[in-house]
Amino acid sequence: MLTRLLYASRAVAAIDDALLKAILERSRTHNLEHGITGVLCAHPEGNVFLQALEGSRAAVNALYVAIARDPRHRDVTLLAYDEADERRFPSWLMGVVDLGRVNRRSILRYSERAVLDPFAMSGRSALALLEELTSSGAIVSHE
Ligand code: FAD
Repeated sequence: MLTRLLYASRAVAAIDDALLKAILERSRTHNLEHGITGVLCAHPEGNVFLQALEGSRAAVNALYVAIARDPRHRDVTLLAYDEADERRFPSWLMGVVDLGRVNRRSILRYSERAVLDPFAMSGRSALALLEELTSSGAIVSHE
């Protein structure tokens, strides 16, 4: 059975290339091995992460517990956790939000203000925004 989990967190230090590279290296192999797909969206201006994880209930839960304990971020906040009929993010993408490519009206559509703040969004809105950012190419892949 497929599940989808969405959370937001705040980086403890400034989000930089070294941090993203370390997370990417670990995620690429681990997520593939455990059938986990999703998106990790880093927003350096706000120093926040927004991540969607999809996969089996056991795999998603185990990974979330490990991520929540990671000292590189704090305020790890569960935004949504649901059973899923299909994957919305069938591959694994990790990248930085390029605010220059984000239509502020898209953010305003899902938020109270035109500021990218997943902590102030409902889980449904955060998921919709993540899908829009992904499909519009506003998340620049970190490879
Ligand atoms: P160990 O490797 O034994 O780590 C022990 C402890 O040290 C853990 O608390 C770990 O989180 C921490 N740690 C590991 N590396 C560092 C480091 N360089 N600096 C400081 N502390 C460190 N992992 C995935 O597999 N898939 C993901 O999708 C994923 N997404 C992540 C998203 C974010 C925003 C962050 C911050 C981390 C993410 N990680 C992801 C990494 C994850 O949090 C764990 O580090 C990883 O799962 C290994 O945990 P462990 O307890 O098995 O491991």
